[in-house]
Amino acid sequence: MSGQTFAARAGYRGRFAPSPTGPLHFGSLLAAVASYVDARAQAGAWLVRMEDLDRPREVPGAAADILRTLQAFGFVWDDPVLFQRDRSDAYQSALDRLAARGLTYPCGCSRTEIARLDLPGLEGPIYPGTCRAGLPPGRLPRTVRLRAPAQPITFVDRIQGAWEQSIEATIGDFVLRRADGIHAYQLAVVVDDAWQGITHVVRGADLLLSTPRQILLQQSLGLSQPGYAHVPLAVDDGGRKLSKSLAAAPVDPDDPLPALKRAWDLLGQEALPLERSIHGGLIQRFWSQAIARWRIERVPARSTISIALLDVDVGSRTAEHHQTWPGDDLRLR
Ligand code: GLU
Repeated sequence: MSGQTFAARAGYRGRFAPSPTGPLHFGSLLAAVASYVDARAQAGAWLVRMEDLDRPREVPGAAADILRTLQAFGFVWDDPVLFQRDRSDAYQSALDRLAARGLTYPCGCSRTEIARLDLPGLEGPIYPGTCRAGLPPGRLPRTVRLRAPAQPITFVDRIQGAWEQSIEATIGDFVLRRADGIHAYQLAVVVDDAWQGITHVVRGADLLLSTPRQILLQQSLGLSQPGYAHVPLAVDDGGRKLSKSLAAAPVDPDDPLPALKRAWDLLGQEALPLERSIHGGLIQRFWSQAIARWRIERVPARSTISIALLDVDVGSRTAEHHQTWPGDDLRLR
């Protein structure tokens, strides 16, 4: 059955996919709130996937901590949580399919060698395809890369508008299996979004730059393409991504409402009349009101949003094409 048929049958399926590199912080909460209300407002399913693929970066206990915090914030997910650590066979079989189609090749270059070529790209140095035609004599394979096509990838983001990126010119052939044997995020996310039948991806704008690579992989693997919506990345006053700054303090599971309200404001939404509640259950009230009033068109079409800046421009969607990412702060992945 094609992914499209599945999606049509299953209706809306959204997801939140945190990496267990620390407790849930406000930046992640913003993405979680947006994906949750967007799914529930369309009577959709909402799943949680723990992206614990990168074992060296995992903080022990963080996955359980994130799940407990999500629960305390009143998120309710459908289906058991999917853990990427259990999925290596699926990633390897996708990689084998790509290899069988001649779309991948082993690469012997180290990061230092690539950096020495001094070809700055959107996310670190561009890989110019040194090993494309075969490993140079005497070199051992380190990574597996996907051949980036010459033609650009285009897509229309529900929040950020139309995007176009030439992967070849701005990133180069990219890694699908790392030198340490771990499958790359780009591959895992595509395999898992398809496996979980995800029809709508709502996540932070730091992943806009990754989206064309994911679409390319979907096309190469014959998978259907989910819709994408990228919410602005919460930054502190100095423009630093929250997860990299002091303001990245974990959200407080004992007092969810202030963080939920702040996330709601930053998403450009109309204030909720929560105060009228005389009963307990304010969190449930927040969610039912938020789900009823969610307007994705009010989310600011911008890359970042300051946590201190609540009088944001709302509804200013842009239809123009972006060739590259305008801000430096997004070169994170
Ligand atoms: N695991 C990624 C992160 O925490 C998110 C991946 C995604 O939403 O596609 O940044």
